[in-house]
Amino acid sequence: MLGAMIRSIVILTGAGISAESGVPTFRASDGLWENHRIEDVATPQAFRRNPTLVQTFYDQRRAFLGQVEPNAAHHALARLEAEWSGDFLLVTQNVDDLHDRAGHNHLVHMHGELNAALCTRCRAARPWRGPLIGNPPCPACGQSGTLRPDIVWFGEMPYHMDRIETALAAADLFVSIGTSGAVYPAAGFVELARHAGAHTLELNLEPSAGTPMFHEARHGPASVLVPAWVEEMLAAD
Ligand code: NAD
Ligand code: ZN
Repeated sequence: MLGAMIRSIVILTGAGISAESGVPTFRASDGLWENHRIEDVATPQAFRRNPTLVQTFYDQRRAFLGQVEPNAAHHALARLEAEWSGDFLLVTQNVDDLHDRAGHNHLVHMHGELNAALCTRCRAARPWRGPLIGNPPCPACGQSGTLRPDIVWFGEMPYHMDRIETALAAADLFVSIGTSGAVYPAAGFVELARHAGAHTLELNLEPSAGTPMFHEARHGPASVLVPAWVEEMLAAD
């Protein structure tokens, strides 16, 4: 498809784009996230049942961000945003900060961020770098013991859905990168984009649950596929 026909791009990324930076994906073959069952660390019920386990889990994930760097795929998407003449929105399911560090102005974290804390008392969400274990006070209301990771857990409503759906309705091109197509509502974005008349492209290591929904699919590592695709887009822009 010619870039000249495309003005508005919406990109969805998942854990696969960060895999080559050394961040483990979610549903690696064992179905576990860093050796934990998802229902033990990624639901509100898990947090109520064992807050120490859940806080420690996300404290470790947050601390680990200091040991990883954006890879060629993150950098290529930042270049595309900077050089693309039309509309651009990057929607990530990732809670890591690798897209942020690659440099974006049009990025939304639909599942929240490791580097933010949410107060269950006053609902303020604030940047957060250190641990949450030990009951630090909320920077907004001063209460101790009310902060949780600002992560959207299973059963909770993803962030920025209005902005995402508006962008999908106007998209000429929807690209899904490094996501298994198993977690809704993100897995349904391809259908929304198709319905709006967008061309749809999957870039993933292997065929995913969503592959049949896309007009076009390319399979291989993100660090190779994404820079090559960005070159094509900018050459045709
Ligand atoms: P997922 O783990 O379910 O799927 C990852 C997909 O990436 C798979 O289809 C896999 O084949 C593909 N993949 C693996 N390595 C790749 C590579 N080098 N290049 C291209 N593709 C590759 O991830 P998901 O679909 O994002 O859904 C999981 C949920 O887990 C998300 O909601 C997210 O919030 C959370 N999560 C986030 C991170 C992170 O922030 N980096 C890590 C793990 C889980
Ligand atoms: Zn508060």
